Amino acid sequence: MLLKQSFYDLSYADLERVIHQNNLNHSVASVLFNWHYKKKENTQCLDKMAKCAMDFFENNFDFSLPEIDRVHESKKDRTVKFLFKLTDNHKVETVLIPFHNKYSICLSSQVGCAMNCSFCFTGTQGLKRNLTTSEIVGQFLQAWRWLALNRSGEERILNIVFMGQGEPLHNFDAVKKSCDIFLSKHGTSIGVQKITISTAGYIPGLKRWSEEIPGVNLALSLHSPFEEKRNELIPINKKYPLDEVLATIDEIPLRKKQFITYEYILIKDFNDALDDAKKLGTILAGKSAYINLIPFNAFPDSDYQSPDVDTIEKFKEVLDTFKIPTLIRTAKGDDVLAACGQLNSKN
Ligand code: SAH
Repeated sequence: MLLKQSFYDLSYADLERVIHQNNLNHSVASVLFNWHYKKKENTQCLDKMAKCAMDFFENNFDFSLPEIDRVHESKKDRTVKFLFKLTDNHKVETVLIPFHNKYSICLSSQVGCAMNCSFCFTGTQGLKRNLTTSEIVGQFLQAWRWLALNRSGEERILNIVFMGQGEPLHNFDAVKKSCDIFLSKHGTSIGVQKITISTAGYIPGLKRWSEEIPGVNLALSLHSPFEEKRNELIPINKKYPLDEVLATIDEIPLRKKQFITYEYILIKDFNDALDDAKKLGTILAGKSAYINLIPFNAFPDSDYQSPDVDTIEKFKEVLDTFKIPTLIRTAKGDDVLAACGQLNSKN
């Protein structure tokens, strides 16, 4: 028997095409998107739809979603980490990060990751495979439903960040289509300014940004302004060096008041000296930049350590002299290994 295509792999435009090709009433597209993405129902669509259209979708499409295998709730700050089991038994993680009874969701884009960054737990897994669009969108829908069941009234996921497992630009097509679905006015209707994709600096994907995902926010994992040091942290820097990455990013048009976020993990005695801060300030000065300083989050067997608070603050003070807005990020969910770089679904 042929495997059915997942309904959640279809963008709104794809769905309209299917409907047109099968001579169904065009209104079916908005009815289905409304049911599955706006109301986020997990049953067959019961809204007004001709029986033939209902049968067509029932017979030809799969409506199942990734299964929640385990849920870890942080005792410290209400962060929730989900372990999802996919149909081929691979697992990925998704994190809900709370802010004022609302949430950001941190989505995974791949099982494991090919980038092999020296400071990241996911990298130790290697790349197993890309996620499909339905597996990406499915993380969002399942997390939303979990909130509706377990924290009723709090099912408000207002921001989407592609900062979970994987390099999103290395799986561009599926990530792009999931953005199309999140943005659709017929469904979740998330604003483009609420979606952020984080990259290690994968230039082929950055080159597609302006044309294919315009307006989506970009975060670059920068971590060192020196090419040699960055090579050590992010091996892909040898192929796509930082100066070329920054030049490619500069080509991407920004909305009014839009910033590029530059993420900088602070690692004790490696990239936390005042010279690092000065060089970082120098290369970013004058850009529409926002810096997130992330003290290194430890994971089992990790080699690095986080600097002390004093060093972190001194680093920020240097950046302040360059007039670049800088935020020191406090870790959320680190008690359940849900913070940046702690995601690993091997076990
Ligand atoms: N591959 C993408 C997205 C995943 S990582 C990227 O590289 O941007 C999301 C963020 O967490 C990145 O900024 C990454 O550098 C950071 N991160 C990874 N490991 C970390 C760790 N151990 N401590 C703190 N931040 C980490």
